[in-house]
Amino acid sequence: MSEALERLKEREKSLMCRTYSRYPLGIVRGKGSRLWDVDGREYVDLLAGIAVIGLGHCHEEIAQVMAEQSRKLVHVSNLFYQEEQLDYAEKLLSTSHAGKVFFCNSGAESNEAAIKIARRYQHVVKGRDAWEVITLSNCFHGRTLATLAATGKHTEGFEPETPGFGRVPWGDLDALEKAIKPTTAAVLFEAIQGEGGIIPVTQEYADGIVDICRRHGVLVMCDEVQAGMGRSGKWWGFQNFNLKPDVFTSAKSMANGLPLGAMMATDEVAQGFDYGSHATTFGGGALVTAVGLKVLEIMERDHLVERAALLGDRARARFRALAEKLGGVIRDVRGMGLLIGVELDMSDEKARKVWLTLMERGYILNLTYGPTLRLLPPLTIDEADLEAFTGELEKVLREIA
Ligand SMILES: *Cc1c(COP(=O)(O)O)cnc(C)c1O
Repeated sequence: MSEALERLKEREKSLMCRTYSRYPLGIVRGKGSRLWDVDGREYVDLLAGIAVIGLGHCHEEIAQVMAEQSRKLVHVSNLFYQEEQLDYAEKLLSTSHAGKVFFCNSGAESNEAAIKIARRYQHVVKGRDAWEVITLSNCFHGRTLATLAATGKHTEGFEPETPGFGRVPWGDLDALEKAIKPTTAAVLFEAIQGEGGIIPVTQEYADGIVDICRRHGVLVMCDEVQAGMGRSGKWWGFQNFNLKPDVFTSAKSMANGLPLGAMMATDEVAQGFDYGSHATTFGGGALVTAVGLKVLEIMERDHLVERAALLGDRARARFRALAEKLGGVIRDVRGMGLLIGVELDMSDEKARKVWLTLMERGYILNLTYGPTLRLLPPLTIDEADLEAFTGELEKVLREIA
């Protein structure tokens, strides 16, 4: 470890709450799909801040909008009408069937808003005594107390668990049918599980969930915080399965690194909120929404959604070819668009060594759900970088496996 990194490590330990066990890297600068560390070493960023930096680091046009808007208006609170917010809402809503949006600042908050509107819609609009939200095993919905209860992980020591949540095994429609009670308000799921190992639903499973929900008057809610905003090769992950959820949520890549989240609902379910029902100080301020609008404009102009589909398909084909060539070291290649999981056939410990070695050789990605390498590169990444990575992965797997 270099002296510069050692210094960062010590300062972090003395200043920060112990929540993150960080990668052995201190990052100082980014441009496009490249990052540079404290020792001046260059990396290809295949993680993009965990699916946040969709357009690449320090995008010139985004920097320009940020600078201009920061001189015009940054924040006045949601007590006022703001054109930036409305322009963005209009553009954002045009990417799906949703009729209304509530802006917030993160994925967890967008899911909180979804849970709240589901309960209030059932209580106030439908007159039903229904509040429970059912989620699927290995899901991830956030770290607030309610979204933790929805997730069902990372809860140790935070008891008592927030009531009102239930979970069923992923893929099991019978279990879902049995779990639905008169008190069930909604089912919340990821069309493509991110933290759970890059697992897309199947068409049959997706249709089954919707069918069960519709028969019982239960809302269908999709968490698009990771898979959304074009990454899956469609604007929204659920669009790959022709779903029209009553409610869906977004955050990570909406403003290319600035905190911006959204809960979107059909006009019907949006009736669940009334003036005063829900609020947030920062949500959808002029600066973040001006940036959000520019993100959508660039994505459209540069056809980044279609590009994600194409590059993702080709990347998975290359990983599958590599799996065949190596015979047994790669257990599975999964995902949609530029949300890619490469499950290794080895112990978690060995997979960690593969991951660390790749980082030493200049590729930043992460490990999720045991031995699964997860790639969430910027949607603007050069295909040559993905090709070169496949070559490096082959070398490392031959050395370590
Ligand atoms: C990251 C993530 C969240 C939580 O988002 P935060 O902004 O960290 O609160 C929720 N759901 C999914 C699917 C995510 O990937």
